[in-house]
Amino acid sequence: MAAEAKHFKYVILGGGVAAGYAAREFGKQGVKPGELAIISKEAFLNLTVKNYFQVAPYERPALSKGYLFPQNAARLPGFHTCVGSGGEKLLPEWYSEKGIELILNTEIVKVDLAAKTLTSAAEATFTYEILLIATGSSVIKLTDFGVQGAEYNNILYLRDIQDGEKLLAAMQAKKDGKAVVVGGGYIGLELSAALKINNFDVTMVYPEPWCMPRLFTAGIAHFYEGYYASKGINLVKGTYAAGFDADENGDVTAVKLKDGRVLEADIVIVGVGGRPLTGLVKGQVAEEKGGIKVRYSLLVRLPSFFFVCVSVLLSCDIGMVMTLFLSKKISQTDGFFETSVPGVYAIGDVATFPMKLYNDQRRVEHVDHARKSAEQAVRAIKAKESGETISEYDYLPYFYSRSFDVAWQFYGDNVGDDVLFGDNDPAAAKPKFGSYWVKDGKVVGVFLEGGSADEYQAIARVARTQPPVVDVEALRKDGLDFATKI
Ligand code: FAD
Repeated sequence: MAAEAKHFKYVILGGGVAAGYAAREFGKQGVKPGELAIISKEAFLNLTVKNYFQVAPYERPALSKGYLFPQNAARLPGFHTCVGSGGEKLLPEWYSEKGIELILNTEIVKVDLAAKTLTSAAEATFTYEILLIATGSSVIKLTDFGVQGAEYNNILYLRDIQDGEKLLAAMQAKKDGKAVVVGGGYIGLELSAALKINNFDVTMVYPEPWCMPRLFTAGIAHFYEGYYASKGINLVKGTYAAGFDADENGDVTAVKLKDGRVLEADIVIVGVGGRPLTGLVKGQVAEEKGGIKVRYSLLVRLPSFFFVCVSVLLSCDIGMVMTLFLSKKISQTDGFFETSVPGVYAIGDVATFPMKLYNDQRRVEHVDHARKSAEQAVRAIKAKESGETISEYDYLPYFYSRSFDVAWQFYGDNVGDDVLFGDNDPAAAKPKFGSYWVKDGKVVGVFLEGGSADEYQAIARVARTQPPVVDVEALRKDGLDFATKI
């Protein structure tokens, strides 16, 4: 006889960054013991003792940074959420004290939104009243494209702590060897630096003309490529991995490039992007831009409905004006993270949400949004229960990265004309430079390398307030002063 389903008022599906921040917000807003569960497949096989450990939510960015350091490496429980934003570290004890159930090492394989039921790979069933989908992303693998030899040993990826352990084991087995990093995005850049610090001979390969092309301009990339070269990292641009060679044990020995070159390799790390994990609810919920679409909630629909009724009843211009005003505003003011299915919320990497600042819909795969969307969704759930209203989500995009001795932050939108400022010479003793993006006569995005806390705050302010620019050359000359004076 099948075991009875376990029931919770709230279930968070996924146990990553968004889940940790959602749990903390539930804790703040008040949750009764037994009401909330986090169900996550996350587990950690300790390769030394060959034992599985269950893993409570942690700050994923640590995996490509401190986790790989040769000395003083970051290890759990040191980077459980919510330390990444300077908050309290939520250890498994925190969850048990609050009566929040952590159901870990449990993969959900079926979601039935109509029946409000989740089924695990081990055929356990869970029912809920309110579901938060926080399944994040999975890495894109070279095997997905049938790249020859992509299944050989030591061709690795990094998404979760299990991948991190495999990477550490390979680094240990191939000590001081040759590493090829496939992909020139932030994962590729951070992992190349980590491998170099661990004394590997590192080559990065990417097809684009410069690294991080989705964010970096040629001027920004000029600095990082020169800086990486000065650290001894070889950069191979304009081509890609078309196949691999291996020895008789199936261990990778070389990367065959599309342009015919062959790179020796003891380890290959692939960072070519991710895909949101939305498959479990495909066809059951509205999607947009590859993610789960979150709609505006009843909290903002009611006033609109009210004004429609007023305008119809009175046929008066004021009613029509208000209706038009509100419908325009509402089309910009979603962001309570409820999906097309009432009682089902989507947060973090999987959510396509309204970006109020730019009046469009976006999906963002970054940690800052994972944290903030989680908090917003829980506040919206609680507000709906108590009949209160909360402010809409008004997100300012924020990305960051650090490697070796350099660190940058970016705020806003990288659209329009870019205006490089400061000294982007890779040989600079104390690098400090940046870029503004100017669109329709306004600064809409700012990148800064080597800033202080105050300076990063200043560029965030600029991206938020979008000050006008009359003279682009003066902006270039003013550089960071333009931002600090706002
Ligand atoms: P995740 O944190 O990925 O959590 C998803 C959770 O869902 C996981 O626990 C997973 O096991 C679980 N899950 C998925 N499917 C199932 C299922 N079927 N059943 C049960 N559980 C399931 N962003 C930045 O802004 N800055 C950085 O420096 C940065 N560094 C990064 C470094 C690495 C190595 C990686 C991988 C990502 C990095 N990111 C960074 C991106 C950032 O970590 C993600 O955007 C963020 O983790 C998204 O949070 P999430 O909760 O949506 O997903």
